[in-house]
Amino acid sequence: MPDHTNPPDPRRRLVPALAACDTPLRAAYDVAMLDLDGVVYRGDGAVDHAAEALSEAAGHGMRLAYVTNNASRTPADVVAKLRALSMPTEDDSVVTSAQAAGRLVADLVPAGSRVLVVGGAGLVQALEERGLVPVRSAQDDPAAVVQGFSPDLGWAQLAEGAYAVAAGVPWIVSNTDTSIPTERGMAPGNGTLVAAVAAASGGVPEVAGKPYAPLFDETVLRVGGERPLVVGDRLDTDIEGANNVGADSLLVFTGVCDLDTAVAAGAYARPTYLAPDLRGLELLQRPVTVDGLEAARCGGVAVLCRDGRLVVDGGAVPEDGQAAVDLLRAAVGLAWHRRDEVGGESGDRLDTSAVRDALRQWGVR
Ligand SMILES: [Mg+2]
Repeated sequence: MPDHTNPPDPRRRLVPALAACDTPLRAAYDVAMLDLDGVVYRGDGAVDHAAEALSEAAGHGMRLAYVTNNASRTPADVVAKLRALSMPTEDDSVVTSAQAAGRLVADLVPAGSRVLVVGGAGLVQALEERGLVPVRSAQDDPAAVVQGFSPDLGWAQLAEGAYAVAAGVPWIVSNTDTSIPTERGMAPGNGTLVAAVAAASGGVPEVAGKPYAPLFDETVLRVGGERPLVVGDRLDTDIEGANNVGADSLLVFTGVCDLDTAVAAGAYARPTYLAPDLRGLELLQRPVTVDGLEAARCGGVAVLCRDGRLVVDGGAVPEDGQAAVDLLRAAVGLAWHRRDEVGGESGDRLDTSAVRDALRQWGVR
């Protein structure tokens, strides 16, 4: 992944341990900043329980913002997709990295400036919204370059980007995700295309999307709210991004993150809260009590560590969503505590298979 020129953010914080919340999350936070792929939908299909859970949260007054690093589509395109999947959606509740990139560019160049677009319709519209003039050639004398993923992006556009960046104009990119999930597997994401332009031009971009601050700040500006809860399925974009701007976060297990990945998270990529899926918005995050290196309890559930193996005390399988959240929290809370006490990336490799088995019917892998 290429380097970036984003300034350090004083709001950045680390999360040593899970926090507790004694009211449902949808009541404790006034806006949910929801990631899309792996949280709300997967490819073309809705994630199980997402529409019902979000309708319930919205019905109780929680504002919903759908926040995506994908700069190829316009917000209206995303709204249409969400509505087709029965997600509660206002016309202005989708915020994209293209919009955040548009604001960054507008802050750098005079109104009416020409800006070279290496990307798709989402970026073009975001620039026009800011009174900038999208162009497609480095010979159009652009004042800046903005780059984002588009499935139609080819060598010719990347070359135009490289020529303009090499000429020294500011370079803003929507995101640096190295891969994107598709139905046939992982495909190159915008980060790989940014790396191509960086390698040819020697330039270093500023990044608009997660895990960096501009997209989160854009969401607050557009959707409002005093106490946002970032909800995501990826540690390195959603959760680390929340920590980068000092926001609380909920990790769900309906996308890329599995239990072993959550257990292995370093302190800057740890979420505030955990739930199998978006039904967690309606549930409590009860305190985790860690007892030495061998046991942790949350609610009525206890997890023990036996010879490097996490086991559920009594072997019970969670009977309701709250018990599933409690089990997740006890297991991850104990694992993080051991990791921090025992130390190091490789110092404490735990076998989580018994906990994963107990949570399988809740969708946790
Ligand atoms: Mg995702």
